[in-house]
Amino acid sequence: MLRKVIEPSKVDHFVRWFERSEKIVIVSHISPDGDAIGSSLGLYHFFSCQNKDVAVIMPNDFPNFLKWMPGSDTILIYDKEKDRCDQLINEADVLCCLDFNTPSRVGEMQDIILKTPARKIMVDHHPYPEDFCRIIMSYPHISSTSELVFRLICAMGYYSEISREGAIGIYTGMMTDTGNFTYNSNHEEIYLIINHLIKKGIDKDAIYRAVFNTYSVSRMKLQGHIMSKIKIFPSHHASLITLTEEEKDEFNFVKGDSEGFVNIPLAIDDIFLSCFLVEDNEQNIIKVSLRSQGDFPCNKVAAEYFNGGGHLNASGGEFKGTMKGAIQAFEDALKAYAPLLCKG
Ligand code: 5GP
Ligand code: MN
Repeated sequence: MLRKVIEPSKVDHFVRWFERSEKIVIVSHISPDGDAIGSSLGLYHFFSCQNKDVAVIMPNDFPNFLKWMPGSDTILIYDKEKDRCDQLINEADVLCCLDFNTPSRVGEMQDIILKTPARKIMVDHHPYPEDFCRIIMSYPHISSTSELVFRLICAMGYYSEISREGAIGIYTGMMTDTGNFTYNSNHEEIYLIINHLIKKGIDKDAIYRAVFNTYSVSRMKLQGHIMSKIKIFPSHHASLITLTEEEKDEFNFVKGDSEGFVNIPLAIDDIFLSCFLVEDNEQNIIKVSLRSQGDFPCNKVAAEYFNGGGHLNASGGEFKGTMKGAIQAFEDALKAYAPLLCKG
């Protein structure tokens, strides 16, 4: 069986809450990704099977390539149904905060999450968790929150209650947060868990196709366009790609179309740091995504230059200003981090 990751005292504490609670609300971070949705639905199906009154709420909408997931049609979107979501969060006995480590990651939902009298639990794998939940299950060495959800349900003694639908959520999150098991994926127990999920009836090949092989033609053309403009910083082993509002219009951009772009330059020989800047006129920011290979801490760059954070090899943030300013900030970061980047 699996080694213990979550401290038994925390599991016992949560079991006591769980047994006494009727209404449970699950929330995750803004711009939900596969792990946010997958971990939430994994837990949602488990709670539903236990006859809990459970709701999943995301701060804003999520990409179409996750909308096939069982239960995804029940997810409430805070910025579309604020009053209903506020009421559910306020009346919840337990609030499960999944895949985020600070209240600022839930955007407009932050106020209600901090104010609700619900008991709060965090299940997450981002470093430096903030102290806003009574139970904090934070394990940055685990590659996805979905894996932690599987571990939590098993540690509670409910492995047999995980349904095929719940297993699909868990697998999807594990798969997307590791780039289909190509990074952060050497932990041997990941494969033991996949073995269990397959026994639950998931079709992992079909899940891969449903998430990764559903591009529109315009999305594929956008990818070609973005990559044709890539800027390489050879001595820093770094790359930069950008996407402006004008280009979004030109390629009929829809939410999720640029998902994964930031990972692509890492396939270039000798590139260890990739930066992707996306103009967002709605929020009036430049959204920043960073990825690295090896031990380069791109979360430090995100924190110091882009008011963000994240993991050692995958981080993000935002820049208040123009695209030109964001590019300059990234080039400043390259200069400052030259001692780490320019070796080898
Ligand atoms: P992505 O590039 O996929 O948007 O984000 C990668 C990772 O960076 C996320 O899993 C999250 O940990 C972190 N991240 C992204 N954007 C932000 C942000 O604005 N603030 C913080 N603190 N972390 C972020
Ligand atoms: Mn995650």
